[in-house]
Amino acid sequence: MKETRICPKCNSSSILGPNRVAGEEKVRLLLKRGTATLDSYVCVDCGYIEFYSDKKGLENIKMKYEKDNNNFLR
Ligand SMILES: [Zn+2]
Repeated sequence: MKETRICPKCNSSSILGPNRVAGEEKVRLLLKRGTATLDSYVCVDCGYIEFYSDKKGLENIKMKYEKDNNNFLR
């Protein structure tokens, strides 16, 4: 949806986004170290929404993943 600008649920091409998401602990991705701020893409026709982490948040996610993966291997 982010790249295709096509809704995977209803095939509409009316996509609104990226939209920054705000909320009360419901839509923010919480990591042990830091958070990931989310952007959303919304289908204007059916309301389907996809979330993507912003660039800084994705760095936090990758650090968390690598840390957990190293702990798992020990
Ligand atoms: Zn749709």
